[in-house]
Amino acid sequence: MSEHIKAKDEVIIFPDHPTYEEKRKVWNTGINRYPAAIFVCRNEEDVVAAVNYAKKHELDIAIRGGGHHFAGTAVCDDGVMIDLSSMNHVKVDEKRQVAIVEGGAKLGDVDAKTQQFGLATPTGTVSETGIAGLALGGGFGYLRGKHGLTSDNIVGARMVTADGHLIDVNENNHPDLFWAIKGGGGNFGVVTSFEFQLHPVGPEVMALDVMYDYNDLDTVIFNLQEYMKTAPDEITVNLAIVQLPPAPFLPAELHHKRVIMLSGMYADEVNDTVEEAVIQPLQHLANPIMDHTGKVAYNELQTKLDPMVPNGVPVGGTSLFFKEMTNEMLSVLKNAIENANLPMVMAQLWPLHGKINRVPAEETAFAVRDAGYMLLIDAEVSKDDPETCEQWLASVYEQLLPYAHQKTSYLNGINPDETIIKNTYGANYQKLANIKGKYDPNNVFCHNHNIAPENA
Ligand code: FAD
Repeated sequence: MSEHIKAKDEVIIFPDHPTYEEKRKVWNTGINRYPAAIFVCRNEEDVVAAVNYAKKHELDIAIRGGGHHFAGTAVCDDGVMIDLSSMNHVKVDEKRQVAIVEGGAKLGDVDAKTQQFGLATPTGTVSETGIAGLALGGGFGYLRGKHGLTSDNIVGARMVTADGHLIDVNENNHPDLFWAIKGGGGNFGVVTSFEFQLHPVGPEVMALDVMYDYNDLDTVIFNLQEYMKTAPDEITVNLAIVQLPPAPFLPAELHHKRVIMLSGMYADEVNDTVEEAVIQPLQHLANPIMDHTGKVAYNELQTKLDPMVPNGVPVGGTSLFFKEMTNEMLSVLKNAIENANLPMVMAQLWPLHGKINRVPAEETAFAVRDAGYMLLIDAEVSKDDPETCEQWLASVYEQLLPYAHQKTSYLNGINPDETIIKNTYGANYQKLANIKGKYDPNNVFCHNHNIAPENA
């Protein structure tokens, strides 16, 4: 079968194929893995063929959605890589208010299509990211306060399971699997397409875009913390501590300067009262050094951070959730950032409130529903000295762990680790292990934040 596929359609690619080198690459250029075969799938039949091929040859499977997880779980050594990047079609069912999104689509594909109907589903903040990995692991974006995580908005999926069957998954069909894919990652099968709930958004939205001096970090954070106590669901705020690149779109005096960037969005009409009570306080958490807050097209906001992404470099990362920001925690974080001997470090602290925190922890696999802040740290790995980055990230994680919320992390922003995975799923872990045992007893889907199958 495989030879037939290769000759006719080039769906299966072996290491001697001219495109193999290109196809095995993922977003993080520090990842170098060599699959035995790559299936460049065009449709569900190809995905079934890929899973059956892996089964026949007793190979494990890595699934590539957008290839953006920095841990590179989309590619593996010696196994089968199922590449969905050509399956990126998005369709809107206006009547049902859902988007039908293929498993290899990027956030930009989803937003571009849904905005044609004045609709959106919560996604993330960088348009090149894959929707599949983001949604299966949670999904935090500018609509999270009002409409929840991306995973909360999954209303159905089509999946190829480990036994090579294509199934419909929703609240009536395979409800256990439906529960598990809302946060349980790529453990349970290949999602060939999702159905996402849509909401009216835009076409113009109020976008927050304020820059503060890094020296004002304590003031900005504590004022933001006060603000979040009464913040309405409609406002979402992301804070990032970054060293600015020498980019032509930035004034020369800001090149290489460490700053605080506040971005966000108000997910409804903005009248004078909202402007005064909700938007303006965020523009004056300290003295701003730049402020471009204003109305923009939703799709413009959704691509605005793309130029800030360090594409084409090796990166590492870590993550923790916190209940609140304390002086001690902040001083550990600042000390770490200021003394990092790395080409680039970015720390993001995203306040969490509203819809995401009102979903009961046991309602979906995604269990962290009562944290106040998500910390994501990304760092560029120096090519000559990769260990320094790894050691620095491990040390920041260990130093901040005592302040973290129930030792939980955002799995989409951290390397796979058994203890972290168990801490993060908490009481949901056992149920996930049972479902894994039912649908993937031999753990062929193991290149992910793995849940060990509990076989009955
Ligand atoms: P991939 O690397 O392709 O996949 C990761 C894992 O997901 C795979 O190993 C597999 O287990 C699973 N998977 C992927 N596709 C499928 C499928 N079709 N079926 C079954 N399993 C699958 N996260 C946020 O929440 N909000 C953000 O704003 C955000 N911004 C980001 C910006 C950048 C530049 C980057 C690099 C990451 C960002 N993230 C964000 C993190 C993001 O959620 C993860 O990187 C996520 O894994 C990306 O999904 P992907 O499909 O591109 O990943």
